Amino acid sequence: MHTDLVAALDIGGTKIAGALVDGGGSLLVRAQRPTPAREGAEAVMGAVNDVLAELAASPLWHRARAVGIGSAGPVDASAGTVSPVNVPGWRGFPLVDRVAAATGGLPVTLVGDGVAMTAAEHWLGAARGYDNALCMVVSTGVGGGLVLGGKLHPGPSGNAGHIGHISVDLDGDPCPCGARGCVERIASGPNIARRALENGWRPGADGDTTAAAVAAAARAGDPVAAASFERAAQALAAGIAATATLADLDIAVIGGGVAGAGEVLFAPLRASLRDYATLSFVQGLTVTSAVMGADAGLVGAAAAASTVRRAASNGVRAVAAP
Ligand SMILES: [Zn+2]
Repeated sequence: MHTDLVAALDIGGTKIAGALVDGGGSLLVRAQRPTPAREGAEAVMGAVNDVLAELAASPLWHRARAVGIGSAGPVDASAGTVSPVNVPGWRGFPLVDRVAAATGGLPVTLVGDGVAMTAAEHWLGAARGYDNALCMVVSTGVGGGLVLGGKLHPGPSGNAGHIGHISVDLDGDPCPCGARGCVERIASGPNIARRALENGWRPGADGDTTAAAVAAAARAGDPVAAASFERAAQALAAGIAATATLADLDIAVIGGGVAGAGEVLFAPLRASLRDYATLSFVQGLTVTSAVMGADAGLVGAAAAASTVRRAASNGVRAVAAP
């Protein structure tokens, strides 16, 4: 019987969520605070401490054996630090040490939010049963993670699979990361909306200029709105095909708000994949929607803590064996 729990944290630019997660992936206790993203490092840490204190007040807290953190990136899992783009007060912030101290020395595992989402989809979601998967979040930004050989592959820094900053347009627009033509620069929600507006799409009476509004217009037959999604789909297809060719993948799972556009995104994505995923071993790549929803970050942080700890303890046993 699995009685151990993991205290999971999902740290983003707008909210800090926490939960006590059991061995079946159920969230038994939840806590949440807004991220004071424009304030200093200690104010943001204060919100994390508040979430942890609320979890620790639960009668279930004594069953918590580890902490798993999925954070907006970039993260540095080897150093235990985070530098989320959307939280300027945290640059090289020693989150792992601070959370360990706040929880009485529980072991802490840190991964990027794309890796956490991937762990959730592989454990209980759309990538379950697949040994080689790319999972991605297409939202305000574009992130992702990898499962290789049946195991989550966070990489030494905890950022592996960050498909948003693969360049798919050599002479493309400058990306805030410093490169050019990144998948995110073309396929994120804000960039879908920006491109539609630049090409003459206009919002309805409600003035909504989000990617969701562009998707609704595309669904209603607006060719400029549809073209912006087609361009995003083309960038995603090129990035997915490159990753699949490199790593010999079975499945790509796409979540996040932009994936909520449904066939407006997925129909041109499947069409573009036929153009880019051309070699025999990637032609059969499955592309599907994520299913874990808003809790993917918490479930995945818990999964990452469990899998990384298991790998570490296996390593110790291997060293100790005669
Ligand atoms: Zn970039």
